[in-house]
Amino acid sequence: MPELPEVETVRRSLERSVSGKTVSSVKVYHPKMIRGMEVAPFADALHQERIERVERRGKFLLFDFDRFYLVSHLRMEGKYFPYPQPVERDKHTHVVFRFTDGSELHYNDVRKFGTMELRDKKTAMQTAPLAQLEREPFDPEFTAEVLAENLIRKKRSPIKTALLDQSIFLGLGNIYVDETLHAARVHPLTKAGALTLDDISRIHQAGVDVLRQAVEAGGSTIRSYVSPSGKGEFQLQLAVYGQNGEPCPRCGTAIEKIKVGGRGTHFCPTCQQVAL
Ligand code: ZN
Repeated sequence: MPELPEVETVRRSLERSVSGKTVSSVKVYHPKMIRGMEVAPFADALHQERIERVERRGKFLLFDFDRFYLVSHLRMEGKYFPYPQPVERDKHTHVVFRFTDGSELHYNDVRKFGTMELRDKKTAMQTAPLAQLEREPFDPEFTAEVLAENLIRKKRSPIKTALLDQSIFLGLGNIYVDETLHAARVHPLTKAGALTLDDISRIHQAGVDVLRQAVEAGGSTIRSYVSPSGKGEFQLQLAVYGQNGEPCPRCGTAIEKIKVGGRGTHFCPTCQQVAL
């Protein structure tokens, strides 16, 4: 599943390829993925609408049209492919946007779990699901103090489990949590309530850095991930995730793998000492 950095990579690519374009037609081949309305009014509403820009809230992509946000969630396998001219539809292409300049944007989704929904711009941010999202990790208002406050709700949980909760630190998935805790030198089993403010500051800084690096690398993920620019597979340099038995890049100790809350968890037993 694409995580926040991958979705941000998709957003940047879409921003370059479709912002400023005006929709001439929309064809939907899998009606179930359009939420909240029938296909015909969905297509009608977008006719002659211009994409001002492409934004992101959490893992939702927001196509910012004149009157609406088209809120798109890629779920497991959703991908966007822009084409400079009309092309034959792939069997996994479920929505085709044609623009007035003759170019097209294809939404492709092998698993068909992705969703699209049109939301009124005036109310979209005040209603679910966008209103429920926590502060963005790159928002300057998301500080170490905010993270410390969020962690109070999870003080009995291992920090690994607490950080996977998107209401604590938006955007950190399993890979990024392991990398963050290694960079911050915190053992994944440390109870959130046992962390000092200094520990939390290091986790905050490391988490933001890891996500930023992942965005710059075009997103990580273990499986190959094709960005809309077609650049293909990207791989973030991973220090611990998937590296069990390999030497820690900082101290050379073999990385270990354990389960925490049912999730495979990688850490360095020397750099990351448990504080229970
Ligand atoms: Zn180490």
